[in-house]
Amino acid sequence: MDAFTPHLLDGKVNLKNLLPTEMEQLMLALGQPRYKWQQIWRWMYVRLVDRFEDMTDLSKDFRRKLEEVAVIPSMGLHLHQQSEAQDTDKFLFKMADGSLVESVKMKYLVGHGRIAICISSQVGCAMACSFCASGLAGLQRNLATWEIVDQVVQIQKAVEPLGQRVANVVYMGIGEPFHNYEAVLRSTRIINCGEGLGIGMRHLTISTSGLVPQIRQLTAEKLPIRLAISLHATNNELRNQIMPVNRKWPIEELLVACREYQEASGRRITFEYVLLEGVNDSLAEAEALGRMLRGLHVLVNLIPWNPVDGAPYERSRPGRIRAFQEKVEAQGPKCTVRQEKGADIEAACGQLRLRDMAGTAKSKERRQRGDRPA
Ligand code: SF4
Repeated sequence: MDAFTPHLLDGKVNLKNLLPTEMEQLMLALGQPRYKWQQIWRWMYVRLVDRFEDMTDLSKDFRRKLEEVAVIPSMGLHLHQQSEAQDTDKFLFKMADGSLVESVKMKYLVGHGRIAICISSQVGCAMACSFCASGLAGLQRNLATWEIVDQVVQIQKAVEPLGQRVANVVYMGIGEPFHNYEAVLRSTRIINCGEGLGIGMRHLTISTSGLVPQIRQLTAEKLPIRLAISLHATNNELRNQIMPVNRKWPIEELLVACREYQEASGRRITFEYVLLEGVNDSLAEAEALGRMLRGLHVLVNLIPWNPVDGAPYERSRPGRIRAFQEKVEAQGPKCTVRQEKGADIEAACGQLRLRDMAGTAKSKERRQRGDRPA
């Protein structure tokens, strides 16, 4: 059982941290046939059960043994908010150490009851982007693999009664996913496993502020995971100011790593660009952005900035955003404007968590302290 030491939680093996192959090894270590891992996996990730006593097709003796040596942890839902238009839900989970983590359900992205969700990879963020609520609060800690996976499980549990299914997962919530590379990659393999949640790698997107070594590491993994880059500026001088990560890996190096990823994967890359009035939203910058991305297969996604307490910016006006979009497209790249959803529920990344930490979260909320999603 030594092989499972990195996955112990309170002295028991944390099954939500394990890859399918490790589950199989655990079954063998417990003197069970290999195939038992699939049975348990399906209980955990298809029926969304987290108590061994409910796994009724396992023998009572085996269930007792599992109780002794293993655990299936779940995060508690601390706060659930739904936007007035009912098109966006925010979930705030509270972990055993009191840390808060935020996930968003965006049902507009995929049709026929298939929903997209945005999940977090860290508690806070060390990247210190000046327009971001999570950046302003700093990094508290990395999420464990199971805490990343459990965001998907808990949201799936919440949407199932509505006839919905999580079909797309974007790692674009709180944190820099590549700053927690191992746990994030491990979580993608668990979420992807066809015996359970079965969300295809092509439906998983990792969004990074531009950690070049990890982009290269992902390229070398040869997984069909999608890549998104938070760019937000077209020159190093401005990007250094608003995204300190750029001082280490400037735009030129970032674009080289993107080209390598695209050459190896053949996949389109999304470039996110948050529009800050008078800072990065001029037509000259739109033109520079379009030109800079020529030769790459990209989607530029413009994001109207959601005000963040303490950040010295204004949101670009709608006319300005439209003109920016047209200018980018005139240079060749396809360019969209992110639909505005959930502005009434603190939709800016990390804003809900920050407000809750400050004890100022207000109306339009449904509190379910210590509960799991209904
Ligand atoms: S924008 Fe992303 S990378 Fe930058 S501080 Fe916020 S969470 Fe971190």
